[in-house]
Amino acid sequence: MLKIFAQFIDLIFENSCVICNKFSRQDLICKSCESSFVIRNESSSIKSFQEIKVYSWGFYDGNLRDGIIALKAGKKKLTNYFANKLINFWKTLPQNVTNKNYLVIPVPSHKKRIKERGYCQATLIAANFAQTLDLSFTNNLIIRKKQTKFMNSLVNREERIKNINDAFEIINSINVKDILIIDDILTSGNTLCEIAKTVHKKFPEINILGLTVAAGDRYSI
Ligand SMILES: [Zn+2]
Repeated sequence: MLKIFAQFIDLIFENSCVICNKFSRQDLICKSCESSFVIRNESSSIKSFQEIKVYSWGFYDGNLRDGIIALKAGKKKLTNYFANKLINFWKTLPQNVTNKNYLVIPVPSHKKRIKERGYCQATLIAANFAQTLDLSFTNNLIIRKKQTKFMNSLVNREERIKNINDAFEIINSINVKDILIIDDILTSGNTLCEIAKTVHKKFPEINILGLTVAAGDRYSI
């Protein structure tokens, strides 16, 4: 009896929406929570920084914010869910952006953080994205050599820049013209800018584009 009860609890838990916890059959995020996501329009989906342009699918707010927090907190299956959102978003972008022969790379997590979480969410999303769209992928170009604090835990611009400065290192050589860097969220943009800077130091000719599931405006600079 106890075993049946445990199986029943598992079934409910396995089939619950990660945001509202309501029973939701096969959906990791139920239709009701999903319908409240605020998706960016054409002009608000792109942000330009000195070395990189970044496209982001949604606003890092409300239920989408909770979904991304769950993604970082151990809900590994959400990597496929968010990869699909990015793939569909990518297909809506202008052809002159999407028609290049990109090498897809993730924003790497520090090895200690991967050990804690059991996976790197940006790597899984980027790998799924590249495989589905038949693009090249590597998670062996850049490593995060410095264990940085979460960027959204730092409210001050100087702190965020100092936190990420020299955090990445190129560990391999490549022979491509275009790189697409994928991450879950874009906050200040400092992380992607730092990676772009690191890549450009070694490979100044490479064109780099960023793509994230969500972006927050609170920390925009
Ligand atoms: Zn829900």
